[in-house]
Amino acid sequence: MRGAPAELTLSLLCHLSHLRATRVTSVDASAPARHVWLSGAQAEICLQREAHLAWLKRGFTSLPPNFAGLDASRPWFVFWIAHAMEVLGDFDDHWAPKVASFLSHCQDPTGGFAGGPSQLPHLAPTYAAVSALMVAGTEEAYQVVDRAAMYDFLMRMKSPEGGFKMHDEGETDMRGCYCAIAVASMLHILTDELMEGIPEYICRCQTWEGGIAGEEGLEAHGGYSYCGLATLCIAGKADALDLHGFLKWAVHKQMTHEGGFQGRANKLVDSCYSFWQGAIFPLLHEAFRQGGSEKVPLPKDHCWFAPEPLQMYLLLACQHPAGGLRDKPNKSADFYHTCYALSGMAVSQYDVSNHTPLLGDLGNLLERTDARSDQRKKKPSTLVSKDATFSSWHYY
Ligand SMILES: [Zn+2]
Repeated sequence: MRGAPAELTLSLLCHLSHLRATRVTSVDASAPARHVWLSGAQAEICLQREAHLAWLKRGFTSLPPNFAGLDASRPWFVFWIAHAMEVLGDFDDHWAPKVASFLSHCQDPTGGFAGGPSQLPHLAPTYAAVSALMVAGTEEAYQVVDRAAMYDFLMRMKSPEGGFKMHDEGETDMRGCYCAIAVASMLHILTDELMEGIPEYICRCQTWEGGIAGEEGLEAHGGYSYCGLATLCIAGKADALDLHGFLKWAVHKQMTHEGGFQGRANKLVDSCYSFWQGAIFPLLHEAFRQGGSEKVPLPKDHCWFAPEPLQMYLLLACQHPAGGLRDKPNKSADFYHTCYALSGMAVSQYDVSNHTPLLGDLGNLLERTDARSDQRKKKPSTLVSKDATFSSWHYY
């Protein structure tokens, strides 16, 4: 990651020098206003919603020739764009038939989805495709998936060490656990047979730092930590982990200067970790609850991280003027970072209380994602909107 720390620092300092302390917007008028350390110039802290939507819609219609090298990731583009539009509150129904039609051509007759038509079925595009179909949210979209073949595919991907292979003869890592179990949860085909050995495998990948690594013996990492914890939250088994160690690791990944998250120790802040790290906190809240919240005094008005500085980093440093969001200043906007930066911002705007810690005015408020599982109501921990989650659970 050749970053632009000097430019990033300069960018933030320039903005900060124009800001003065005031209050942050609270959506709940009855809730006490929350003091934050900036926002006198809140008009400057503005989500460029229309620019992002226009850029996303252009991407949904066609991609330039230099994307040809990503021909094996096509369901991912559908998901990144559809979910970003959903979080921005503007996934129009007319996109749903197009999503269902294209993804139906990526489904393999033996189960699972490939990165493109006639390619090898793979767990990563399978997760992306099923998630995008949930976003589409129509009966036509739900009917695309051959659930019996999908179950066979997921069982075929189970590996002897407890996790899931990404594809036939492929690698086994933490992504496989999350992709397989999230898909099974979204499609209502999650069984004890599928979950067998998973908690033990994930616990073996929790490192001395507290987070979860991609594979046993490697370094704790934000993306794999989210995948491992979310998998266990879906199954209601998150208390198998050392949750205190996990929390201690996670809180040190939000950088005090930039406000954003790094993915692992000694790395630069990157906007995609706004979701991979930021969504860990509501999951940890749920994990402690699953373990018996009477054992742990859970905070009632925060989720252990600072939402306003995170939103400041995303809104001031990561929005590209031409639309889309980027990893950090001096980078180009891309669909992956747009999806996960917006998802992380959405997670940070809804905490465990009735407060909505929102930086700027109500125009910056995003739709709520389903990063927080709630086993009491049998809802999964997946990355689609709460409305999409409700609809799919009703259908299947
Ligand atoms: Zn990134």
